[in-house]
Amino acid sequence: MHLTALSGGIGGARFLTGLRSILRPGDDLTVIGNTADDVWLFGLKVCPDLDSLMYTLGGGIDVERGWGRADETWHAKEELAAYGVEPTWFGLGDRDLATHVVRTQMLGAGYTLTQVTEALCVRWQPGVRLLPMSDDRVETHIVIDDESAASGRRAVHFQEYWVHMRASVPVRGVVEVGVEQSKPGPDVLDAITAADAVIVPPSNPIVSIGTILEVPGIREAVRAATGPVVGVSPIVGGAAVRGMADQLLGGLGIEVSASGVARHYGARSNGGVVDGWLVDERDRAAADELSDAQIACRAVPLLMSDADATATMAQDTLDLAAELAR
Ligand code: GDP
Ligand code: CA
Repeated sequence: MHLTALSGGIGGARFLTGLRSILRPGDDLTVIGNTADDVWLFGLKVCPDLDSLMYTLGGGIDVERGWGRADETWHAKEELAAYGVEPTWFGLGDRDLATHVVRTQMLGAGYTLTQVTEALCVRWQPGVRLLPMSDDRVETHIVIDDESAASGRRAVHFQEYWVHMRASVPVRGVVEVGVEQSKPGPDVLDAITAADAVIVPPSNPIVSIGTILEVPGIREAVRAATGPVVGVSPIVGGAAVRGMADQLLGGLGIEVSASGVARHYGARSNGGVVDGWLVDERDRAAADELSDAQIACRAVPLLMSDADATATMAQDTLDLAAELAR
């Protein structure tokens, strides 16, 4: 079976460890990673979601923190701060730094981000084929209030909003800078259309999955995919399990609920991108709402509390896909 997943960082990566653990011999998994969180810092190209995927699937992640390298030290960050160099708020660990140095060096030598990612994965052996959504620069910017600006608004890079401001002010809008001119990475469209099933893990529906779908051609490919498209709710019991999905969804006027996210994606039979949707058991009521929306919904435990729970969630996802493929 050929599986393809679209993914953000932490939530997607955790889910994909479960999915990888239940693959059978001959199966393969392609992961299309969000690159709109990427940021240039101190002259280095940092790709937070690709790195979360690579480190998590490759066994190098700091499990407690959820991002960055295990056994990390922060000397370089302290030295940069001692020079008074901005930004001081981004957590760039010493081990992690090596990844960004290699990536930046290879990009400078003319390799594409797809090629660089493949090269980095030779070390990490994530057990999946990891493809950036695009080789072009796309950046999520968050629109916030700013009384000092003539328009009363200003846009900040996603990392500044999330890491520096800790999502403490309301989201007025989301702008995907560069997305209209971007192209999907090589193999991205084929990996979607040819997959036996397309999986949407519990990733942020706006700044992870939403940005991937906005790369011209990707939403169309998902809509045209031969296999079923099944998603897993990142919202459990009316709130994001982790992260800022609530602030973003609320700010954009999308209902912060398991069914609200599914309706935001929409049914493929009705112009949207999913056929099936898993919600947590406590969100069982979503099933009725979604049957009106032509989305097949199943309620199962959706907390990735340990490896077994995550593997069971992944199996439930494949079971729903198998049902919908018939
Ligand atoms: P990011 O790029 O690091 O923000 O990661 P993603 O976009 O892949 O995932 C973030 C989403 O994962 C958040 O909206 C969380 O609600 C969701 N999430 C995290 N842990 C869990 C979990 O155990 N279960 C479910 N259902 N969602 C989760
Ligand atoms: Ca992310």
